[in-house]
Amino acid sequence: MKARLNGVFLVACAVFFLLTLTSASFAYELPKMVGITCDDGQADSLERMLSVTIPLGLKVDLFLVTDFLDEGDWSIDWARAKELQTLYPGLVKINSHSRTHPYFTSLTNARLIDETRGSKLQFSAHGINTDDMGIATPYGDFNLKVLSFVARYYPWHRAAWDYDGDGVINKWPLNDCQLEIFEPTPNMPGEEVIARVQEDIAQGGLPLLLFHEFTPAGVVPGDWQYPIEEFKKIVNWIAANSDTIKSVTISEALHLTDAPNLVKNYSFTNRNVNGWAKNWSRSGAGVTINTAHQGNFPEFTNSLRIVGGSVERKAWNDQVPVDEGSEYIIKMYQSCQNWVAGGWCVWVDEFNLDGYYIGGQRLGGNYWNFVGWRYYQYQPSPGTAKASIQPYVEAGSRLTLFVDSVEMRKLP
Ligand SMILES: [Zn+2]
Repeated sequence: MKARLNGVFLVACAVFFLLTLTSASFAYELPKMVGITCDDGQADSLERMLSVTIPLGLKVDLFLVTDFLDEGDWSIDWARAKELQTLYPGLVKINSHSRTHPYFTSLTNARLIDETRGSKLQFSAHGINTDDMGIATPYGDFNLKVLSFVARYYPWHRAAWDYDGDGVINKWPLNDCQLEIFEPTPNMPGEEVIARVQEDIAQGGLPLLLFHEFTPAGVVPGDWQYPIEEFKKIVNWIAANSDTIKSVTISEALHLTDAPNLVKNYSFTNRNVNGWAKNWSRSGAGVTINTAHQGNFPEFTNSLRIVGGSVERKAWNDQVPVDEGSEYIIKMYQSCQNWVAGGWCVWVDEFNLDGYYIGGQRLGGNYWNFVGWRYYQYQPSPGTAKASIQPYVEAGSRLTLFVDSVEMRKLP
């Protein structure tokens, strides 16, 4: 029970059950978009691809390996990377694919930091723009621990297959920490790839295509290669449909709205004298601010920590004004890697103009280990003027939950 005891508790209870049954929920739909991504930066292949995408005005995300850029023989070098950024701003976005292209799940913590943070520092040192820079783990080799390190230094992570196996690439709600891709096999006709993109968009997905190398006309493609002639069919189709399907970089696709985040102290950086977060309240034992780097980019030092116990444990932010007729996206980073029993949920407390509790909505729950971003869609119940976001761990749970970067943004 989420209701806080006050003078109108009984009324609140009645309203609470009514609202739970009747509150309208809206179904957010992603805009129609498609992304083209290319890994490893093999020089000839990359130039072959860009000679096709640039004239059409299509955007591409490149995932480059910084130590390969140092060598600059098989891969493009730093000078060319910088030149691409300068020549084609908005069309070529450079992202990280680590320093040395290792299997991330086999790395020590120190190596994980070097391959993630270290790679970004290299990009920065060579004048590559790291704003909104994401990362793709080599070989799509990651686990929850890897993701928790990746999340410290990058706002998003691209995987290397349809990770959740639901048959749709990035079906809403997204997880910025495990963005899925579709990689055409060497002999797949361009028409088949186009059909796949259309199908994905029709099912509410965000299709991201992954390519490694492009072979010139007349050359039989091997593993991880794709014929440039078939690629031309795909990009010509994307360009011809640009009125309805937008060519995007991943960071653009994830920018759902320009609206400001309504949550104060959303990253738990401001603390009062007893160490608890300003602008946040808590139920009591087991709910603290952790300062041991369990949060996410950019301020990953502090995060909210809730340890499961025999009773429900929760935290909630100061009430923010909301408009009854509007729709909101709530997003937060959540990390749990020691699940034994129970689960956690996100609840929204709702209040009328006078600040009286009138009910709320349960937005979703998790009953297993998880590291990543969760999106929730929220439409205030009738009579709601203020709302408060409340992550809570259910009674009887045995788990430790870290929460960071709590966002609530109004949709246009
Ligand atoms: Zn790779």
